[in-house]
Amino acid sequence: MMGSKPCKTSLRSVSLLTALLLVVLSPMAGRAEGIRAAVFPAGLYPGDVARIEVTASVEITEGYLDWQQQRVPLVRMENGLPGLLSGIPRDLPAGRHDVLLKLFLQDGSRRLQNLALDVGAKVFPEQHLTLPPQMVRPDPEILQRHSRERAELERAFARGRQQRLWSAPFQRPVPGKVLSPFGVQRILNGEPRSYHSGVDLRAARGEPIVAAGDGQVLLVADHYFAGKSVYIDHGMGIITMYFHLDTIAVQEGEQVSSGQTLGLAGATGRATGPHLHWGARIHQVRVDPLALLRVLPTDQSR
Ligand SMILES: [Zn+2]
Repeated sequence: MMGSKPCKTSLRSVSLLTALLLVVLSPMAGRAEGIRAAVFPAGLYPGDVARIEVTASVEITEGYLDWQQQRVPLVRMENGLPGLLSGIPRDLPAGRHDVLLKLFLQDGSRRLQNLALDVGAKVFPEQHLTLPPQMVRPDPEILQRHSRERAELERAFARGRQQRLWSAPFQRPVPGKVLSPFGVQRILNGEPRSYHSGVDLRAARGEPIVAAGDGQVLLVADHYFAGKSVYIDHGMGIITMYFHLDTIAVQEGEQVSSGQTLGLAGATGRATGPHLHWGARIHQVRVDPLALLRVLPTDQSR
């Protein structure tokens, strides 16, 4: 949603700490069955996508991860292993975070598996904007409309499917360079506002915008901020979104393949010029969509 023009000059992004990721197996559980859980990539930062896979010498019939008030079920990954993707929240403090995997085995027993995620510190760039106060004051009608549109989105997100509809790798929806990265902290007339929830990619008006992965069209909308927009459900809690389109070429409920044209780039909604705002969320956590590109088909990220 962020315009492409103002943010280039004030970007500063510093990674303070190299993330080290440790996988700690619970000493009380899993040994006899040779259960191991591994997390990729080895080095996580806020806004990233973590992939967790479980190997075991016994059949795991069901399982889920409990973390950040989320319950994420294990599904069958492309390599046949039970696994899941989890989003690292943008505002998660750096440090070690304990997560719990609950596993149900074929013999009816249950195992608890502890994982410790070490998340590195990341300083997101700031974007300072100065606008006349009357432009900053929200118009009640626009607020009402925005609130209705948020409710429509939440209903759509709730329809997202748990099974895997995608196959790695994900792809960039348009080749243009990054104009404004994920997570930029916007500061309007000295007051911190919402952070940039996606990544802005350069795109000329009329340039094709393609699906980042296989999935199903969850929602086609024309919203105040996002303009003409398409939301794709990739399953496993993953939803990608494409904003400010000039025209839309798909319909709700339609199956789409990775690389299929969803529409043409434009500047609809609140945009200062043609570009693509590309967003992604995983189980309600907004993540940097570019992190999806690092989710590889098997274990290549080891
Ligand atoms: Zn944007």
